[in-house]
Amino acid sequence: MSSIGGVVSMTANEQRVAEVMEADLVIVGCGAGGMAAAIAAKDKGAGKVIILEKLHTPGGNAIFPPLPLADQDGIPRFACMDDNRVLAGDLRLNPDPKVRADANFRSAMEWNHWRGDARLIRALVDKFETNSDWLKSVMTPEDMIPSPEDMRGKLARVLVKACKNAGVEIYCDTPVKKLVQDANGRVTGVLAEQNGKTIEVKGNNVLISTGGFIGSKELMAKYFHSYTENIYEDMCFMGLLHTGDGIKMAFEAGAASDGTVAFEWEINRMPWLKNPASPLTNLLNNDLNPGVIWVTPQGERFVDESKMNATNSIYRLKNKTFYILFDEGQKAKFLKEGPDFSLLPDLLRGLDLFGGVEEELQQQLTQGRMKVADNWEEIAEWMGADPVVLRETIEEYNSFCDQGHDAKFLKRTNVLTAFRTGPFYAAKSTLAMLVTRGPLKVNTQMQVLDKNDEPIPGLFAAGVDIGGTDSDTYACGAACHSIGWALASGRIAGERLATGGGR
Ligand SMILES: Cc1cc2nc3c(=O)[nH]c(=O)nc-3n(C[C@H](O)[C@H](O)[C@H](O)COP(=O)(O)OP(=O)(O)OC[C@H]3O[C@@H](n4cnc5c(N)ncnc54)[C@H](O)[C@@H]3O)c2cc1C
Repeated sequence: MSSIGGVVSMTANEQRVAEVMEADLVIVGCGAGGMAAAIAAKDKGAGKVIILEKLHTPGGNAIFPPLPLADQDGIPRFACMDDNRVLAGDLRLNPDPKVRADANFRSAMEWNHWRGDARLIRALVDKFETNSDWLKSVMTPEDMIPSPEDMRGKLARVLVKACKNAGVEIYCDTPVKKLVQDANGRVTGVLAEQNGKTIEVKGNNVLISTGGFIGSKELMAKYFHSYTENIYEDMCFMGLLHTGDGIKMAFEAGAASDGTVAFEWEINRMPWLKNPASPLTNLLNNDLNPGVIWVTPQGERFVDESKMNATNSIYRLKNKTFYILFDEGQKAKFLKEGPDFSLLPDLLRGLDLFGGVEEELQQQLTQGRMKVADNWEEIAEWMGADPVVLRETIEEYNSFCDQGHDAKFLKRTNVLTAFRTGPFYAAKSTLAMLVTRGPLKVNTQMQVLDKNDEPIPGLFAAGVDIGGTDSDTYACGAACHSIGWALASGRIAGERLATGGGR
């Protein structure tokens, strides 16, 4: 570690520090936003860039989204997350990036009822379109074509490698504790912990990208409107439990809240299965297998199961618990014919989606986490539902299938498959929260704003710590926008910092 300071010195904040480092840009958090900012800044000629990372390994939640970010034609992957089954002609799949950006902007704004910051979203949507080309430009040739096996985790590894190639210094096991400000309120560095000691890292500018606050009970209680201790304890989380450190530090430094906070939910089909893409979860997955039906613990359908944003309907249920039902006929047909790839991301083609599904299913049945029975009454009893209610639900659904019209929730006709071939199956499922989004208020340059909407000199933010991008729930309609906007916001900030710096 390069040290230019004394062994022990006192900072402006009167903290005893063991070491002082200096950089042009100090980045808090080595995840998607932080690394994108660092690489972009170096690319545009920034001097010394240091990233401080709390955890033992870099990557943050960027270890989860798979590569590549765009298909061979450059169209962003998962281009329409509100419903993966988007047909040709949708403007979000248009070959012209400008048309796509317009469509994504409109989609994001409609999703958030124009409560989001339109100028910020426009900036992110436009930058987003070049993410894939940008990433390719910083990748090494051997990283260009990830195999299906290393799709997960690859993005984070690519970014770490690109940081190192660009000369960015990354210090892990170094949680940042506080922003340092001068008498005029300008952020001039951070205090962090390393090997049990406090260090100061001085910087002309500081960028925060600490990945949201899902692991902070304090911030969850403040922003998650159905928060109670019990609900929080029962909630299922699929990513890293970041504790909102950057958000708290920025508030301490005078940052304003944008007022919009959103939560990214994903259906966790079987929380106890650690692999979110196991053969059994693929069978239960309504994106791949929209023919399954979902019922409440009382045995009633509650949503069009073929919609990706059905997560919002699960959210309403007590304990976010529901049951996925299917029958042997539907299962056999699906396993034989496979998913409808014309309506799914291309990267799923060629993967062995169902190898070993029967063994996994048997294991879950043996462990009592799923139920198989020759009649729906037994299934109802296992669920704790009234058998009459469940039977009526199935009969009604079967009649919708016969008529080719889901008269309740308008599920797509071509996935309506009556359940009449036993045995019948049920799996208990829930929702998982992936990340929080917001609420730091920023401008289109990712400068953190104070309560007068003025930039706090020297302070920038990126990734999911920034607010104004979504309201309430994740704007699924905008193309792959979680990781996409984290990278875009980091790139915007990094470029600005290299060229213009903070006010
Ligand atoms: C399971 C899962 C699957 C996902 N899949 C997708 C997907 O398919 N598509 C998609 O678009 N998005 C996906 N996402 C979301 C995506 O991963 C995030 O949007 C993105 O990683 C956010 O970037 P970030 O920089 O804000 O946070 P992160 O990438 O999480 O980085 C934050 C970093 O800050 C560090 N940090 C926190 N506090 C401190 C501190 N005090 N000092 C120093 N460092 C600190 C953290 O340890 C972490 O490394 C997924 C998320 C999860 C959890």
